Amino acid sequence: MSASLSFDPALADIPEGHLVGGQLLTGGERIAVHAPSTGVIVGHVPAGDADVVDQAVRQAAHVQATSGWATCPPRERARVMRRWAQLVEENLERLARLESFCSTRPIAETTSWDVPFTAEGLRFFAEYADKLGGNVAATQSDLLGMTIAEPYGVIGAIAPWNFPLVMASWKVAPALIAGNGVVIKPSEMTPFSIVLLAQLGEQAGLPAGLFNVVQGHGAVVGDALSRHPLCGKLTFTGSTRTGIAVMKAAAESGPKPVTLELGGKSPQVVYQDIRCVDTVAARIFRAFSGNAGQVCVTGSRLIVHEKVAGPLVEKIVALAGHVRPGPTWDERTAYAPIISPAQAERVEGIVSRACAAGAEQVVPMRRLLPNSGGAFLSPTVLTNVTAQNVAVREEIFGPVLTVQTFTEEDEALALAAHPEYGLAAGVHTADLGRAMRAVRQLRAGTVWVNRYGRSADFVIPTGGFGGSGIGKDLGREAVEANLRHKSVLMAFEG
Ligand code: NAD
Repeated sequence: MSASLSFDPALADIPEGHLVGGQLLTGGERIAVHAPSTGVIVGHVPAGDADVVDQAVRQAAHVQATSGWATCPPRERARVMRRWAQLVEENLERLARLESFCSTRPIAETTSWDVPFTAEGLRFFAEYADKLGGNVAATQSDLLGMTIAEPYGVIGAIAPWNFPLVMASWKVAPALIAGNGVVIKPSEMTPFSIVLLAQLGEQAGLPAGLFNVVQGHGAVVGDALSRHPLCGKLTFTGSTRTGIAVMKAAAESGPKPVTLELGGKSPQVVYQDIRCVDTVAARIFRAFSGNAGQVCVTGSRLIVHEKVAGPLVEKIVALAGHVRPGPTWDERTAYAPIISPAQAERVEGIVSRACAAGAEQVVPMRRLLPNSGGAFLSPTVLTNVTAQNVAVREEIFGPVLTVQTFTEEDEALALAAHPEYGLAAGVHTADLGRAMRAVRQLRAGTVWVNRYGRSADFVIPTGGFGGSGIGKDLGREAVEANLRHKSVLMAFEG
């Protein structure tokens, strides 16, 4: 791919609409979509309402019930999904541009990770098509008991802005392979790539209208989708506050089951026996500054043994001085902007409050590229913080690392516990016995030992405990969550 140093929407052929029944729908009030790295408007989407949601859900329900998608030989669904993965790869350049124009994801990353990872996810889920039987029990000679795994009908999906394509595909692929139709509401800040993903799905053989996209504001479109009576189940990724609103709406309009992938405040526990301070420093740095901290599993709380704290923090601080911000569509850019000016101000506000409560900035937060029109915040490291400090308590969604020290193992794990969140944790030690003790005690849906962050391990599910969510994305668990089991007891005498 050639470097594109200026923004040119024509390069991406932006699909600015809802996608319902295979048609791009526009018209009505519009929402402007900005490039976070420059502030320019890159396109618009219609602000959907309850009527568009109703149209999309009915469409998905009708196609799911009549197209044969749920009742065809499962290998046929798998074939379509694999073809879809191939089309995603063939359209890598356009998808990567669409993603990089309006999200915080630099094009070097959308090209090398987000889009290929999305294709791999489709392939992974395709393989479950014929491996999802129910149970059979012939417990009595004249009675056969069985369970049949059936799709819900329509799955309502709501996605965040931080990894728009990848997060959406984690919702959509397991729902479809299980035989459901889908209506998804992307974030109004990152609405485009999902439309192209759905169009490529139809090109691959998904029945038109099985997978629909409705654009708009969360409180209108997200709420209407959560409450729609034909949505059999909801799957949501976003903040804990919104997740609770979605769950309430699902309860009031059903009840219907929900999968919730929510916020986090993940600790990184570093013991005194680590073999290489440089390696661990680089890992911790990536874990809190990747996507400028706008990752649900951002490792934002460093809990480090007193003996190694000095050299480790020194190395992390040195790395903080070498980030490479720039327009997200420039291939040289390696550091993400903050999604919006309002979010950047929120992050700066939390850092100020943290400092007013006694925190010290070892490396102060600065605005990078102040004339870019976007909001870039440099990574910052805060020491002298207590468990009550706002920077230790709140999910910041910015490049902020707090540092707390310990001398005893128990103390480390007590500091790692968070009263609300339980999404992920990192444990860094050469002693696997110590690592295992930590793994067993940490309240976290995912624990990484001597590494941090997700690679291509689709078979290992992801999901949080406590305020970080309910249920799992990825793995067999994600497919199972899109099926309900019907129990049948059949006597042979009529
Ligand atoms: P958000 O909660 O503001 O929005 C998420 C989605 O919900 C958006 O599409 C939004 O329009 C919609 N929404 C808003 N109000 C709604 C309502 N009342 N009813 C229904 N839908 C509504 O979150 P965000 O700012 O887009 O994303 C960042 C958050 O997502 C962070 O908290 C992050 O930790 C979390 N996240 C979690 C995971 C995970 O796997 N656990 C992954 C990515 C992001």
